[in-house]
Amino acid sequence: MLAGIDLGGTQVRVALARSDGQLVASIKTKTHLVPTPQAMVDWAAAEIDRHRGREKVRSITIAAPGPIDIKRGVLVNPPNLPWKNAPLEAMMSRATGAKVTLANDADMAGLGEFHRGAGRGTKNMVYITWSTGVGGGIIIDGKLHRGAHGTAGEVGHMIIDPNGPLDNCGQRGCLEAFIGGANLAKETGHTAAVLFAEAARGDRDARMVVERAARYMGIALISLTNILDPEMFVIGGGVSRSWALVQPTMLETLRSSPFIKPARRPRVRRARLGDRAGQVGAVEWARINQ
Ligand SMILES: [Zn+2]
Repeated sequence: MLAGIDLGGTQVRVALARSDGQLVASIKTKTHLVPTPQAMVDWAAAEIDRHRGREKVRSITIAAPGPIDIKRGVLVNPPNLPWKNAPLEAMMSRATGAKVTLANDADMAGLGEFHRGAGRGTKNMVYITWSTGVGGGIIIDGKLHRGAHGTAGEVGHMIIDPNGPLDNCGQRGCLEAFIGGANLAKETGHTAAVLFAEAARGDRDARMVVERAARYMGIALISLTNILDPEMFVIGGGVSRSWALVQPTMLETLRSSPFIKPARRPRVRRARLGDRAGQVGAVEWARINQ
């Protein structure tokens, strides 16, 4: 059997699957109930043991927020968890006896959408998660592209304007500095959820902010298309719930590029798996790496 663990700032999810990737169980808990790396590992190992029946779990992937050290299997210092340098791969392997792989959560969500969500049937796809921050996962020729150091797909840190606002990463004018939910909240004084709700109700100021954000995302789609030539963009994360507000402007911006002719213009789709994408992708990665 296989297992995928999605470690988020508010929830931890465990999925068990047969060796062909078919899910057989899915369990979740609140992250604050497993407040240390050891507590999380013990909880996940116990759940895996409880649901595996008489089968052996051979391969486990843990999807975690970056930055992670994929060579050593260490979670370095996630922004929304007070954990530092947690050697999760070694800890989970000790607790379960399985082969364990630590992977980036946006990569895993992208892999989930590629194999079992909106991107099914494509070979070249870019997944973008647009929520508090902006992240991504890149599929090239049917395979997850991780780059030389495992950090490929940092779509949110693509520079849109070198004179733009300072981003948390230290660069100026990153896509995330312009459109990340946390930065929109800082700029407008409303949480992103309130901002999008107001825009949906027709509030003019909120609408302008949302439209500008969708335009910046469209500009990022143009650059990504020119570099990667994908068949499809799959957009997930909290903002994708406001699809009707952002999709028209994103598409219009992408279409405005005279360089990207209709024949090579990628489709833009809303993600299908919601907050299950990470665990589904983690199971797929465990299958690929078993
Ligand atoms: Zn940045």
